[in-house]
Amino acid sequence: MTATLALERTALRRGACPSIATPMQTGDGLLVRLRPVATALTAQDLHALTDLAREHGNGLIEITARGNVQLRGLSADTVPRLAAGLAAAGIVPQTGVAIEVPPLAGIDPSEIADATLVAEALRRAIVDAGLRLAPKLAIVVDGGGQLNLADMVADIRLDAVVQPEGFAWRLSVGGDRTTATAVALLSREAVIDGTMTVVKALAAIGPAARGRDLDPEALDAGQVPLALPAASSRHPLGLHDIGGETVLGLAPAYGQMHADHLAALLDGLSACGAVEFRLAPHRTLLVRGLSEATLAAARAHADREGFWSSADAPGRAISICAGAAGCASGTFDTHAAADAMVAHAGALLDGSVDVHISGCAKGCAHPAVAAVTLCGTVTGIGLVAHGRAGDMPAATVSPDTLESAIQRIGTLLRARRAENETAKSLLDRTAPATLASAYQGLT
Ligand code: SF4
Repeated sequence: MTATLALERTALRRGACPSIATPMQTGDGLLVRLRPVATALTAQDLHALTDLAREHGNGLIEITARGNVQLRGLSADTVPRLAAGLAAAGIVPQTGVAIEVPPLAGIDPSEIADATLVAEALRRAIVDAGLRLAPKLAIVVDGGGQLNLADMVADIRLDAVVQPEGFAWRLSVGGDRTTATAVALLSREAVIDGTMTVVKALAAIGPAARGRDLDPEALDAGQVPLALPAASSRHPLGLHDIGGETVLGLAPAYGQMHADHLAALLDGLSACGAVEFRLAPHRTLLVRGLSEATLAAARAHADREGFWSSADAPGRAISICAGAAGCASGTFDTHAAADAMVAHAGALLDGSVDVHISGCAKGCAHPAVAAVTLCGTVTGIGLVAHGRAGDMPAATVSPDTLESAIQRIGTLLRARRAENETAKSLLDRTAPATLASAYQGLT
C-alpha cells in the first residue's frame, strides 16, 4: 500500500486522534494534531510551524483546549511532507498516550513537584510494556502550581499532594481533580509502578478501555488516600508572576489564527524580548522573556494580530470550529456568530459556562456538553441547550437572521439576570423552551 493510500484510509478512521500518522478528514481537508515533545519552544520553532502550515495546509493553525496544535487543510500528499518538514526543523511530535503536565511545570516555584520527570518516566514505562491502549486515553500528571490542571478531565490522574515528609502522588481514575475516583497514594519511588498497575488493568480490559471502565475497588495499586485538598486553577490567559518573572498568556481569538498573523506576532514579540513560548490549555500560548517595559507593546502586537491577552476576554468562553470560512462541512460563519455573541450576549460569557458554535453536527471544537450550542444543520442554525452539537436543536433560525436571534437571547438574559448572578445560575433557572422562544422571536 502506498503512503498516500494508507493515509487516506487512516484519515477515515473514527475515534482515533488526528496525529500525523492518523490525520482526520474534515471539510477543509486533512487535519493533523500535534504536541511537540519540547515544552519550551523558540520563535524559530513556531516560525517553522507557520511555514509548514502555509506550505502543506491552508495556513490555518489552531491551539486546542488541551494545548495541542492543529494544522488544517492538508492532503494525503502533503501530510508526509509535513512530517519531513517537522523533522528538518527539529520539532519532534509526541507519540503514544497523551500525558499532560501543567504548562509551567519545572519553572513555577509554587508547584509541589515537577510533573515533567514523572510524565517522562511514565511514558517510557508504557512504551516498554508494549501495551495496546485506547487512542484517546488521556493521562494527567499535575504537580500543582499556578496553572495546575485541576479542571482537566483524564482517564488516569496523578496529583502531587503535600505530605509531612515532602510530597506524594495521588492516583485516581476517570475525572478531574475533584471528580476522579481515588485509587492510591503513591510515594515518589512507587509512582511509576503503582500507575502502571492501572495502565495494565486498562489494557487487560481491551484496546478501547477508558478510565471509566475500571473498577477502582478491584485495583491494588497501593494505600488508598484520604480526601484531596481543594485546588483552584487559573486561566492561562493574561499575566502570571512566577518567582518574580512575568509570563504573558495569549490566545488566538477563538483558538484559531492564520499562519501570517502568528508569524507577525512572533516578530513583534521577539522585538519585545520574548525568548520562549509554551503551549497551554484553554487554547493559550505562554510567552517568557517580556519585561515591565515591553509588556504594553507586546499586548499591542497581540491585539493587532487578533490575539487576546487579558484573562477577562469575553470570547474565551466560546469554542468555535473553522465553520464555513475554513471547512466545507460548515454551513455558516462561526467567527461572525461568536463576534455577535460577544457584542450582544455578554451575560452568557462570564466563563462559568461553555458556549459552543459549531459549523455542523460533528462538533469538532467542543465534543462535550455545552450550556449553549449553536450548530449548523440542513435547515438552518440550531440552538441546543445543555447538549452537544449533534443533539436535537430546541429551535432553528436561518443564517441571515442569526444575529437578530443572538440579540434576542442577549436581551432575554439581561432582563432576567439578578445583580452579580453568574451565567451558570442564570441558565440553570431559565427553561430551554424560554431560550428557544427568544431565539426564534416568538416572545
Ligand atoms: S464541526 Fe466545524 S470543523 Fe468540524 S466538520 Fe463540522 S464544520 Fe468542519
